[in-house]
Amino acid sequence: MSLPQFYDPGDLVGVLTTQPLGRALDYRAPEGGCHLGAFVEVPLGPRKVIGVVWGAGKGDYDLSKIRSVIRVLDAAPMRAEMRSFLERAADYTLTPMPAMLRLATRAPGLGDPPSMRKIYRRGPGEPDKMTAARRKVLDALSAYGDLAFTLKELAEMAGVGPSVVKGLVAQGAVAEEDSPRDLPFARLDPDLPGKELTDEQTEGAAQLSHAVRSEKYGTTLLRGVTGSGKTEVYLEAVAAALRAGRQALVLLPEIALTAEFLTRVQERFGAKPAEWHSGATMTERRRIWRMVGQGKAQLVIGARSALFLPFQNLGLIVVDEEHDTSYKQEEGVLYNARDMAVLRASICGAQVVLASATPSLESWANAQAGKYNRLELTSRFGPAVMPEMRALDMRSEGLPSDRWVSEQLKTQVEARLAAGEQSLLFINRRGYAPITLCRACGHQIGCDDCDARMVEHRFLKRLVCHQCGETKPMPTICPSCDAEGRLAPVGPGVERLGEEAAALFPDARIATLSSDMYGSARALKAEIEGIAEGAADIIIGTQLVAKGHNFPKLTLVGVIDADLGLQGSDLRAAERTFQLMRQVAGRAGRAEKPGTALLQTYQPEHPVIRAILAGDEDRFWAAEAREREAAGVPPYGRMAGIILSGPDVAKVFDAGNLLARQDAPLRSIGAQVFGPAPAPIARVRGRHRVRLLVKAEKSAPLQDALARWVAQVPLKGDLRLAVDIDPQSFY
Ligand SMILES: [Zn+2]
Ligand SMILES: [Zn+2]
Repeated sequence: MSLPQFYDPGDLVGVLTTQPLGRALDYRAPEGGCHLGAFVEVPLGPRKVIGVVWGAGKGDYDLSKIRSVIRVLDAAPMRAEMRSFLERAADYTLTPMPAMLRLATRAPGLGDPPSMRKIYRRGPGEPDKMTAARRKVLDALSAYGDLAFTLKELAEMAGVGPSVVKGLVAQGAVAEEDSPRDLPFARLDPDLPGKELTDEQTEGAAQLSHAVRSEKYGTTLLRGVTGSGKTEVYLEAVAAALRAGRQALVLLPEIALTAEFLTRVQERFGAKPAEWHSGATMTERRRIWRMVGQGKAQLVIGARSALFLPFQNLGLIVVDEEHDTSYKQEEGVLYNARDMAVLRASICGAQVVLASATPSLESWANAQAGKYNRLELTSRFGPAVMPEMRALDMRSEGLPSDRWVSEQLKTQVEARLAAGEQSLLFINRRGYAPITLCRACGHQIGCDDCDARMVEHRFLKRLVCHQCGETKPMPTICPSCDAEGRLAPVGPGVERLGEEAAALFPDARIATLSSDMYGSARALKAEIEGIAEGAADIIIGTQLVAKGHNFPKLTLVGVIDADLGLQGSDLRAAERTFQLMRQVAGRAGRAEKPGTALLQTYQPEHPVIRAILAGDEDRFWAAEAREREAAGVPPYGRMAGIILSGPDVAKVFDAGNLLARQDAPLRSIGAQVFGPAPAPIARVRGRHRVRLLVKAEKSAPLQDALARWVAQVPLKGDLRLAVDIDPQSFY
């Protein structure tokens, strides 16, 4: 590997910082010089900030006023490939470079000097007097050969206090050494025997491994029903990357990053991979960032932001559950990790595997068009097959207005209870009830800061706004008419469904799973693992149960409201409902027992419901694709959402109207602009939101036109503008 370009002391260099300045600033290279891509500390006004040497200085600034780089940080220089990735991602998402750089420098303590810690191993000396405690320490050390431990580890292993170890150090029987705090990750062994694969899986694994060995860019859509062994197949591609001496990254939706998954990886490779997620401690994050940068972490399993880690030699990116909406970052820098994975891989010559049971229409269309390779796993492990799926026509059920479990579904759950099997009752709504209504005046309690209803969370004993997170205590008096005791919950949420289940099945053990009911992601994962082992008879859950968890005893899935996702005007409503229903249904019958999925619906003739039941995925995708193609919307056309927001509604609309009038840059590429209109949620956190939508043909140079177009609006005062390329949600 050749070293990057070097700048001698005093040379002009351009340094990009994470401060919102719009461009790299000129500095002089410090004493000792610096490489292109070096992480540096520079003076900025009275402050010191961290930046990256982005290239030669421009020299267009008063040379006598140029200051020097303060120092080069102890981190491997950012590679050309990473700089190019950030630049192209910034161009694509219309994100300023400093904000992009921030994603790539999320390493706590990046500016700290290399930190050391004390470690202890067997020394050459002998203790003057052997005590039982001293013997324990020396025995513990000899049991591990030449390995070294921290003071805490060693004292705990030996079951003695730290002073015993210190006493042995004083006598030379234990050696105390300095060691870097961030240790490399254990070597993974790609040649350990993996799980035994079926012929189909072996063939798939061979195809992916072959692609990885080519050391060229390529993307494969790995499609397989739940339980078909997708993970085993792509872990063989990871093995191929490791054998070739390259690094691998497996992206998962945060909630799917389970201990169960990590155990599978550990079993395959004999050691733990690096884990990058929101629950990781600062120490773990620093270690991963540094070790990935030094090539001493071979495999990272991570949530979407792992894509911005400083890999030295990335050979494979797997995006598991690639259709998952959580890959789209909806705040700050608006990017889709799936698309950015493809971009990064295309720059560094890596392979991408997009894995899903129910791919996004985008990926499906790319595979149809031959841009992506295609790999299908059609059979499930063992005897189990896709569950039997049926609609329950709710029009003939005549349920009272405060009940949601039909008689037919109830009978089926009872049969599972009798057989000692698990049932899942699924409703994709958090909280107790979506609406709190005054029976005296009809008032619905809304959020003070948003145009959204407050949702009662009985578990938290509060009303919660799902837009801005604001909460307030449940009032006893109607805020509109002052009537007392007339506020009533309307409609079901997961908590209320749990209450109904407890009444219907008084002897069953019921577990309600909703992301907000547990203090931490870890607590939630622990709960899920307990349930998978059989700690509950009935699971009441929101969409988080659909994401990659394995419930071997589960044989019945009851979808309480299959129509829920079909409401609203989102162009992806049909696709999302189809994916979610198929995935939830796929939870049933994964082990030895066949499963059943029952969908309660008021519109069993709806084409999406019929497609779900028929299980003819290709026909569904083809029909959906035709509709989108006819409408010229993604993935067959391009879209961008513009959200203007501010505290003064008139000023926000003025800016929106100005943009709509001055649409020459858009017209020059044949794009159309719609709006301004109030955004579907017209007020969030007290800020009024106005939306414009831009539609263009697939081949149109959209970003460039957008950049010129939005630059016409001066963002004065509190007015803010966000551009969302390929918007996923229409909020
Ligand atoms: Zn009232
Ligand atoms: Zn709110």
